[in-house]
Amino acid sequence: MRCVVANWKMNLLAADAAAWSEGFLARYAPASGVAVGVAPPFPLLRQVGDAIRSRGVRIFAQNGHAEAKGAFTGEVSMAQLQDAGCAGVILGHSERRQLFGETDAALVRKVKAAREWNLLPLLCVGETLTERQAGFTLEVLGQQLSILAETGPGPLWVAYEPVWAIGTGLRAEADQVREAHAFIRAKLDLFMDRGDYQAPILYGGSVTPENFPELLNIPEVAGGLVGGASLDPAKFAELAKQA
Ligand code: PEP
Repeated sequence: MRCVVANWKMNLLAADAAAWSEGFLARYAPASGVAVGVAPPFPLLRQVGDAIRSRGVRIFAQNGHAEAKGAFTGEVSMAQLQDAGCAGVILGHSERRQLFGETDAALVRKVKAAREWNLLPLLCVGETLTERQAGFTLEVLGQQLSILAETGPGPLWVAYEPVWAIGTGLRAEADQVREAHAFIRAKLDLFMDRGDYQAPILYGGSVTPENFPELLNIPEVAGGLVGGASLDPAKFAELAKQA
């Protein structure tokens, strides 16, 4: 299965989202074997879901809290995300790890909570430039994926997102992507029961319609998690078509 997910991050207002949905639907034709997702900010989840879900597009949240409810001002639970029509949730994005102190321990709880509420966890992993330059890329990926030993098998998508390639226009080289994805697959085989479920591994980091076809040719690249380019409905529809 191929997968393409738009991560809008903290962008777009309701009117922009309506225009995006219209522009996307005018160009998008669902294809078998291709799963397309869109992750709008919380206030737009219902609106975007209502606009595009009927075309089979899955709505993802960009984060969720592990507790189902309670005194957690400013947080949104997996139960609320499911209630708002989400099919999945992005977890462990590097911006959450770096800017909001999201830890691997918190991610264990979040992956479990997402599955409890029938949300597909899309777990992001990736190394910083300093870590890559110091030769620690695989150690970092191994550490970030080791949470799966605690969450156990279950539905999961993984996104390899080298932090230095996110929003920078710097795309990882094919060899770097190949090495990382093969390593992630080996770890998934270790931590999850392969016969039971094989998680797709997406690449993220300055994906555009210009570079996506080459990325899709790399073994174990099942698709893309797309930030900047996904804000343009024509580009995102093109990426969905390429997948
Ligand atoms: C992302 O936000 O996950 C991402 C990969 O962003 P960009 O495509 O802008 O690099």
